[in-house]
Amino acid sequence: MRVFKLSFLGLPERGKSSWLNRTLEIYMTIEAVYCNACGNVLEENTATDQKEHAPCPRCGSTLRRYDVNLNVKMHARAGFGMRHKRPGEKRPLSESLNKPEYSTKHKKVIEKTRLIDRKNKRYQETIRDYESGEIYHHCDEPLDKHLGHGSAKKRK
Ligand SMILES: [Zn+2]
Repeated sequence: MRVFKLSFLGLPERGKSSWLNRTLEIYMTIEAVYCNACGNVLEENTATDQKEHAPCPRCGSTLRRYDVNLNVKMHARAGFGMRHKRPGEKRPLSESLNKPEYSTKHKKVIEKTRLIDRKNKRYQETIRDYESGEIYHHCDEPLDKHLGHGSAKKRK
């Protein structure tokens, strides 16, 4: 039986950070093939273009009817963020987030984890692949060093 796989990926819009990513996969399996004119069960296991069909051995029709089994899988990835606020201070003591984000570099949705710890003056960021768990990028550095980077200034 031939399996068709379709994937729908809800990508975050450019310029916005999306906190929910949905992936939908549809698997279609052909269970049986019939002649659509006489109902004869045919020993075909692929869906081909109608012009390519061999005539039905019983009636000569090239029309087909399929029994299909659809298997739909969906998974969603949500994100979260936290801010530790201090009274009288504009900037939070710490900020952390974990969320799906579209990576233009990797051309897919990756898991982004970030911690800004102003108390201990640390900056940590990890970019990870959801499927394989592979870490594409990790940094753990003093916050002032990170803020001095050219890349930090360019970041939105
Ligand atoms: Zn037939």
